[in-house]
Amino acid sequence: MRTTEEYRAMIPEEPPADLVAEMVRQELLDSGHMSFKCIGFEEAYARTRDDDFYMDLRESFRKRPALLWCSECEKEMLAEYLPSDSKKNEFGRRRIRYYDADFNEVVERSNADVIFCPSCGKKVVLRSAADLPRTEQKFMVVPTVAAGCLMLTKWCVERRQFVGGERLYKNAYEAYIVDGGCAVKLAHYKRGLYWNMLRLEEWKQNKRFEDRLTCPYFYDGAEGRPSLDGTPLENAKLWEYLDQSYEKNDFYPVAYLRLYAKHQQVENLITAGFAWLVADGIRRETNY
Ligand SMILES: [Zn+2]
Repeated sequence: MRTTEEYRAMIPEEPPADLVAEMVRQELLDSGHMSFKCIGFEEAYARTRDDDFYMDLRESFRKRPALLWCSECEKEMLAEYLPSDSKKNEFGRRRIRYYDADFNEVVERSNADVIFCPSCGKKVVLRSAADLPRTEQKFMVVPTVAAGCLMLTKWCVERRQFVGGERLYKNAYEAYIVDGGCAVKLAHYKRGLYWNMLRLEEWKQNKRFEDRLTCPYFYDGAEGRPSLDGTPLENAKLWEYLDQSYEKNDFYPVAYLRLYAKHQQVENLITAGFAWLVADGIRRETNY
């Protein structure tokens, strides 16, 4: 065991550079958004002269304009706005109509549809101004090794989308540190009233250990998995367990490593390909 101060110093200050890309790859997070709002004809005309303007995609400039903005290329474009009173689809979602070069035809799309941006080609979710601003928070656990300890840091990516803008915030919320045979947990937030999360000034070590990580979204991106060679976990078969169990939602890293600390033979089950059995046991024991 080390002091809280020592543990604090081991927690990474930055997430992997591709954390957001990895969340998108695992379909935890949408890739980006295209906002649209109804504007007047005069404003539409003025917008076509902006530096960020890509193209007028309406069939004719007499069609009612909607201003589109893509969060991936930050370009603006014009589409036809379909008034919600008469042309709502069966879900009552707001719609636009525009020329799509991929299909070589005029297409109709609704709020919340996934489209490919006509300018940059990236996959984005269409968001009506009435549906904005919106905020989403997604969590992913990133493994690193420091001072012979495995750290599992839970990062929160918060995305705020608004008309013509998008901001991303990345904050670490929890860190589980496997130090020899014991696990400690540090938190950077506490629960406020109504269960909202309040960020603390600094990492605090929890007095009572509690595994809230259970079966998390786990980072497996470009920075790779850290080597456990030379740590007490080098024979724990953690990455083999990950490979066997992740797709089946059977990967409980903290529970598994605590089990391993008590009964090292559990790695034999992983070697034999019985990750599901281990996960079953963990679930039964802890009521996850
Ligand atoms: Zn774009």
